[in-house]
Amino acid sequence: MRHGVLALLLVASSVAASAADLVVSTDFEGGSADVEAVDQENRVVRISPGGQRKRGWVCWWYVRIDGLVPGETLVLDVGGGVWATPDRATFSTDGKTWQQTERGKRAGQRIVFRQKCDAETVWFAWGPPFTPTDATALCERIAEESPHAESFVLCKTRRGRPTPALRIRQDGVANEERYGLWIQARQHAWESGGSWVGRGFVEWLVSDDPDAERLRKSAVVTFVPIMDVDNTAEGHGGKNQSPQDHNRDWTDQPYWRAVEAAQAGIGKLDVAGRFDLFVDLHNPGANDRRPFFYTPPADLLSKRGQRNLAAFVAAAKEEIVGPLELADKQRVSGAGYDKAWRAISKNWVTEHTRDHVVAVTLETSWNTPHSTTDGYQRVGRELGEAIATYFEQSPRTPVE
Ligand SMILES: [Zn+2]
Repeated sequence: MRHGVLALLLVASSVAASAADLVVSTDFEGGSADVEAVDQENRVVRISPGGQRKRGWVCWWYVRIDGLVPGETLVLDVGGGVWATPDRATFSTDGKTWQQTERGKRAGQRIVFRQKCDAETVWFAWGPPFTPTDATALCERIAEESPHAESFVLCKTRRGRPTPALRIRQDGVANEERYGLWIQARQHAWESGGSWVGRGFVEWLVSDDPDAERLRKSAVVTFVPIMDVDNTAEGHGGKNQSPQDHNRDWTDQPYWRAVEAAQAGIGKLDVAGRFDLFVDLHNPGANDRRPFFYTPPADLLSKRGQRNLAAFVAAAKEEIVGPLELADKQRVSGAGYDKAWRAISKNWVTEHTRDHVVAVTLETSWNTPHSTTDGYQRVGRELGEAIATYFEQSPRTPVE
């Protein structure tokens, strides 16, 4: 027995000696964490989200950890409460492809993930990251690959960064008859899933799918993968930030340049009689396990607007089938939802465009086993199918 104990001690000390110290860093695009403690011996990293409160809800975290012994199990203990602690964290061994950890173990406001890591460096995050660099790369790649897509800069942010965007149209229907669609993500920087849904949508839109081709030939589509580029780049949450949440900034005098530029782009199409559909992509609350739409209050809508909204939602219900399956009910964000309800994007769009226009927010669930890059992109493709179906129904026709 004594020899056995001695052998065990020797083994234990040799493992400790061969394991490098874990080094946790956030000094990269989108990186964010308050590193509370690193227990080198037990390989436990304790963090909580690192954003500044004035830059929005403190719920986004994204770290790089170096010094692992490939094959070892790392313990990641995350604080920050319900918005910061998904049931499953996202991780990567190359910083590009993202998968979920096993379900973590909750303890009060914290959650503990145990992940076997087959690399010396791993990245962990609240959800699959999608940074401004990813947004630029996506727009440039699609513009290069598709003759129907054009990459452009929507605006420069207040901190001087470009806000990349895409415009997609294929020769077909005459310009005056073309439908106008504006789709955008990340008014709330931490809601990274919105950008992945958008990526799934645009990749579908430039694909060989006959429905996508029909949509390209009958519409002009603008896509903005990240509205709040500065907070996304700097790892802040963005929601309820000071002085203004992007999605409470849709007024006659917007503070944020991306909001101002989006309003101008939508307004220009609408004045020409060529605007039809607005979709704002978000992630909802932790317990919203199915995607759903926020819709404008019914009293903002004309008869034609109500008919069109019902037709669009019905098409979405047909197409967004899962595994992230669209919920049966929509939610309304009107006066009872927020005192600044008129300054929410889709409500502003509804009040400032023609009465046939449909404007919605799509909230795609982030706290499910399907809230992965694949799951999100699938929702985006299904949204595309729904839009193609909806535009078949002549939304500009007057109500009898
Ligand atoms: Zn949001």
